[in-house]
Amino acid sequence: MVDLVSQYKKIKTEIDTAIQDVVVSSAYINGPDVKHFAKELEEYLDVKHVIPCANGTDALQIAMMALNFKPGDEIITASFTCVATAEVMALLQLKPVLVDVDPDTFAIDCDAIERAITPRTVAIVPVHLFGQCSNMQRVMEIANERNLYVIEDTAQAIGAEYTLSNGTTMKAGTIGTIGTTSFFPSKNLGCMGDGGAIFTQNDELAQRIRIIANHGQSVQYHHDDIGVNSRLDTMQAAILRIKLRHLDEYCEARQRAAAFYDQAFGKNPKLKIPTRQEHSTHVFHQYTLVLRGVSRTALREHLESKGVPSMIYYPIPLHMQKAYTDPRYKHGDFPVTEDLCAHVISLPMHTELTNEDLAHITSSVLEFVNR
Ligand SMILES: *Cc1c(COP(=O)(O)O)cnc(C)c1O
Repeated sequence: MVDLVSQYKKIKTEIDTAIQDVVVSSAYINGPDVKHFAKELEEYLDVKHVIPCANGTDALQIAMMALNFKPGDEIITASFTCVATAEVMALLQLKPVLVDVDPDTFAIDCDAIERAITPRTVAIVPVHLFGQCSNMQRVMEIANERNLYVIEDTAQAIGAEYTLSNGTTMKAGTIGTIGTTSFFPSKNLGCMGDGGAIFTQNDELAQRIRIIANHGQSVQYHHDDIGVNSRLDTMQAAILRIKLRHLDEYCEARQRAAAFYDQAFGKNPKLKIPTRQEHSTHVFHQYTLVLRGVSRTALREHLESKGVPSMIYYPIPLHMQKAYTDPRYKHGDFPVTEDLCAHVISLPMHTELTNEDLAHITSSVLEFVNR
């Protein structure tokens, strides 16, 4: 699905030197690279504060802790997402309120958000799934009208851009109250281990986030809040500084691969290619087709026999997961999500796909689909 080795080989000298420098400095925790990386990412995103942390799940949890949510507070999020989004809510005893997604863009359905709002609602968490922004214009309008916080889960969409109706173009994760991201190796900006970050334009909130991520202490050994221990390793920061310089070119490589897939599959009635969200760019964390009248299991077996990997993101909707069973929800409550979970397939998507690879993948898919 990804080829991190070929990507590494192209920047091997820079990466090896950066790692070596960290090893020799022995500043493994909170070394200078962590600050430098945060500053560089702030510039790239045009956001006032980037606070690095240990992973994208922690980023979500810290964001929710910093906003002082109380047990029982309701947070609206999409039913078609990675478990992390709801997991942190459960850990903080918040109440995830799931809503369905748009069948075309897979983004949180804004009409459904409006219907789900109650007096206990405190926030909306749009997930910028597969690499494009949710309908942030509508999400922000709804949130502003009802005084709700917005936490953008940008783990899959770092670098994507959204243009608001006033003409301002902003990077994913910098529009809401807080943005969160992950530097898991296979994400669009991936390190060589775990990593994550939190973004905000708000000075006070940034200060709270820093304190919470650091054991709740503003001054060493003075703990004013209950916090967590969540840091980005210096070595990961050093690696990310190098990869950040390549992020735009990585996005373009993904977009080129997506255009190749679109060209090959666009006219096939059995394959629905990714629908682009209006006013957003797409950085293609995943290239995900919806199959119509094709057996997904059989297609995957055929692809495997041709040496083509494929994945299902996500096979089971959140409300059908054992740990998240809830009397409020039953099978059939989120028909779009349930349909997508049964019919989506993601093809290899990364920065190193050659035209030869893409030709092999597309012909292998079409060979089966057109049988
Ligand atoms: C990967 C991912 C996360 C979690 O990131 P980790 O760094 O693995 O903790 C959260 N949300 C979404 C949408 C993701 O894709």
